[in-house]
Amino acid sequence: MRIKAIHEKTVQLQGNIANAVVDFSKHTVSLIAVVSDQVKNGKAVVGLAFNSIGRFAQGGIMRERMIPRLLQAEPASLLDSSGLSFDLSNISATVMRDEKPGGHGDRAGAAAALELAFWDLNAKLADEPAYQHIAQAFEQTPITLGAPVYAAGGYYYPGASSQRLAEELKSYQDLGYQAFKIKIGGASLTEDMGRIETAIKVAGNAGAIAVDANGRFDLPTALAYGKELAPYRLRWYEEPGDPLDYELLAELGGQYQGSMATGENLFSAADTQNLMRYARLRPGKDILQMDPALSYGLSEYQKILKLTAEAGFSRTQCIPHGGHLINLHIVSALGLGGCEAYPGVFNPFGGYSVQCRVQDGRVIPSDAPGFGLEQKAELAPYIDHLLGA
Ligand code: MG
Repeated sequence: MRIKAIHEKTVQLQGNIANAVVDFSKHTVSLIAVVSDQVKNGKAVVGLAFNSIGRFAQGGIMRERMIPRLLQAEPASLLDSSGLSFDLSNISATVMRDEKPGGHGDRAGAAAALELAFWDLNAKLADEPAYQHIAQAFEQTPITLGAPVYAAGGYYYPGASSQRLAEELKSYQDLGYQAFKIKIGGASLTEDMGRIETAIKVAGNAGAIAVDANGRFDLPTALAYGKELAPYRLRWYEEPGDPLDYELLAELGGQYQGSMATGENLFSAADTQNLMRYARLRPGKDILQMDPALSYGLSEYQKILKLTAEAGFSRTQCIPHGGHLINLHIVSALGLGGCEAYPGVFNPFGGYSVQCRVQDGRVIPSDAPGFGLEQKAELAPYIDHLLGA
C-alpha cells in the first residue's frame, strides 16, 4: 500500500462574525486529501481532514515541508506491521522530520491536518466510523449513546440587539441543543451582563451558559468580570486572559469560584505541561479545551491527555475546541466530556452533517466510514473540487 498523492486546498470560512479580538471574515482553513492506491467500491480510498477552525490555512508549511517528506518516505516505512494500515506514529515522525522542538504555532495545525487525514484513511480502509476505529486504537470504550454537546455562538454582529442573540440561541434550541456559549469582552461589562441575562432567559438556567472572552482581558478586567459573573454560577468562564498567561489564570482561579476553561490556543503536550505546572487549574472544576486538530493530531493529543490525567483531571473535563466532525469523532472515541458545535457558523467546516443526530443536548456521529466529512453538504463540493471530481 502506498500514497499516490496528497492534495491541499485553502478554503475561505463563510460568515461575517467577530469575537472580542478576531474578525473571522478573512479566515481560511486547509482542507487535505491523502489519496491511497487502495480501491473500494470502484473508487480510490482517500483520507480527508482539515486544521480545525480559527488559525488560518497552512498550505505553505504543508506543501514546502511536510507533504514532500511523506511522499519521499519509503512506502513500507509508513505502514504498521500488518501492512494493511498506516502507522500514525511513523506518519507523525515523518511529517516532523528535521523540525526543532518548541515553537508550537502554525505548524502544529499543519501537522494535525495531515495526521488526521491518515486516521480518516485508516478508518475507511477498515470500513469503520472514525470514532470506533480511534477507540480501538487507544483501547477505549466509545460513547455510543451521544456525547454531551453545546452550541457555540453568541458572536458580536454589527448593530445586533439582544433580541438577535435570543433568536440565535432559540434556533439552536430548536436543533436539539440545551447548552450554549456566548462571547464576552467585545462590549462594555454592563452590555455583556445584559447579553448574559438574555442567554440565561432563553436557556432557562445559568448552568447552561458558558462565556468566552477569547483572551482579551488583563488581570484587573478578568477579576472585575469574574466578580460580576460569580453569582450566576455559569457553566464556565473561558479564556479570560492571554492563553499563555498562566499567572493570570492562577490569580483568577484563586478568587473566582466558578469553572474556568482554557487550552484552545495551546498546541502541544509541552505547552499543556506548563499549563498544568503554573496555572493552578482545579481538577474537578476547570475545563481543558486543547484541540487535537490544532495540536499535531491524535498522537500528540494522547500525550496531552496523559499529562492532564497525571495532574488529576478527568477526561470528562476535556472538551476540545473546534465544533466540527473531526472532534466529534475524537470526543466520542476517547470518552471525553463533550463537544463544541457551531451550528450555522464557520461553514463549510463548522457544525455536523444531517446524518449526525443531535437530541436532548447530545450528539451521535453517523456510521459513515471515517470522519464522515463527505456527508456534510456544505463541505462536499470543496472535497469534490480538491479531488478533481
Ligand atoms: Mg474559545
